[in-house]
Amino acid sequence: MNMIEQPRNFTTELAVIGSGIAGFAASVFAVNRKIATALAGNSGAVAYTTGYLDLLGRLDGIATAVTDPWEGLLHLRQTQPKHPLGRIAVADLRAGFDEFTSFLGSGGIAYSRAGDRNVTALTPAGTLKQTLCVPATMAAGPRAFAARAACVIVDFEGLKGFSSREVVANLGGRWPGLAAQRIGFPDMARGEVYPEVMARALEVPATRERLATALQGVAGPARVIGLPAILGVHRPDRVHADLERLTGLEIFEIPTMPPSVPGVRLRELLEQALPKRGVTLIPQQKVTGLGFDGDGATLDLRDSYGPIRIRARAVILATGRFLSGGLEAHPDRIAEPLLDLPVTQPAGRADWYRERYTDVRGHPLHRAGIEVDAESRPLGRDGRPCSERLFAAGVIVAHQDWIRSRSGAGIAIATAYQAVGAAERYLRGSSGGLAATPSLNRQVVVPGE
Ligand SMILES: Cc1cc2nc3c(=O)[nH]c(=O)nc-3n(C[C@H](O)[C@H](O)[C@H](O)COP(=O)(O)OP(=O)(O)OC[C@H]3O[C@@H](n4cnc5c(N)ncnc54)[C@H](O)[C@@H]3O)c2cc1C
Repeated sequence: MNMIEQPRNFTTELAVIGSGIAGFAASVFAVNRKIATALAGNSGAVAYTTGYLDLLGRLDGIATAVTDPWEGLLHLRQTQPKHPLGRIAVADLRAGFDEFTSFLGSGGIAYSRAGDRNVTALTPAGTLKQTLCVPATMAAGPRAFAARAACVIVDFEGLKGFSSREVVANLGGRWPGLAAQRIGFPDMARGEVYPEVMARALEVPATRERLATALQGVAGPARVIGLPAILGVHRPDRVHADLERLTGLEIFEIPTMPPSVPGVRLRELLEQALPKRGVTLIPQQKVTGLGFDGDGATLDLRDSYGPIRIRARAVILATGRFLSGGLEAHPDRIAEPLLDLPVTQPAGRADWYRERYTDVRGHPLHRAGIEVDAESRPLGRDGRPCSERLFAAGVIVAHQDWIRSRSGAGIAIATAYQAVGAAERYLRGSSGGLAATPSLNRQVVVPGE
């Protein structure tokens, strides 16, 4: 018998599609503005991130790294006027970073505040990069490097993808007091060990005590220890503080290769904190249909228990690029799969990449994306907003190569801040005020509900 499946229905003011940094930040900004919000996102690039929140670390045509990102933005405005970071006021950029990081801090992942200069931070291989905000668990690393303090980098038997000797080999020339040590992780001394498993194990006080003893044994005269990022998944600040207390040493984390614990932390914190603040969260699912009518937008998706339908008065599209499925590369063109929005892209496939992989100008494909107007509305083929209800945020927006410019989180946070501001103006204007008590099913949607 052919049964017609009835969708589970949700009604909201704002629907956010995509659970990367842009989608999460948009949801944070929306709940802070008391906009009833639903977030639907498939898993994506957020678990790959180092945990550093970059604003601007490199500029095209300039060999040296950007130490003052705010000055760098002035240059960007002049040389790349269409760049999304060039289209947002500096005050809004700072406000967006502050609002997002304070939300993370309240959930147990404290961040350094966006300062006037970039921080020189360590990468998993022991090279250096410029970033704007670092998690508190990593902050002692840049400080120790700046002071050239005696420091021991510790790795673990059986841990792949992070080597203290590699860090020292790459950084030791600029950091003379740096040394490498290897120890066994408590109760996991045999076979392969994994960062996420170690991180969860360190949430148990007894494991921390045993690790602290092992760290004291290899610290020597150094008062600073660098570890791969394994200091807990939930409330890493607490794990970090406790390990410092137990060892009497200053401890910092270095991001590991993706998928990394700092990315998993962000995802888990946001997935737990946002529903508590009233967001209807539909995790790990892909929106397959999106349509607009006079009264609102309809999003269709499904989970293992059947179809889900969300009705919203406005939508933020934050689906990322190729890795996350926000853009698709076809033999003949790059497409935006959900609405078939026009994508600004090189004229033909032969122009996607330059001849040399390491070409300093980067590859044209990496600047592909959708166009938005001043109110963050995606433009249709006629150059006009394709819906007054649709806004876009994150690296799906064209005219930026976030990998080269070291500006992934910066673009995500800044464009989310703008998009939520524009959506709020639309919602307040179009409805004569947001509903004071929206009739929402505020929850995490889990199978069977
Ligand atoms: C290896 C790696 C390292 C990184 N390191 C850093 C770093 O050190 N510093 C930094 O600032 N940034 C870093 N980033 C960048 C950062 O993690 C984000 O990728 C970037 O900020 C873009 O965010 P976004 O939200 O626009 O897109 P994404 O992070 O790509 O998120 C898009 C989301 O949309 C979802 N999605 C797509 N289509 C649909 C659909 N139809 N329905 C529902 N959901 C959908 C995806 O599953 C995904 O969750 C790194 C990224 C990678 C991959």
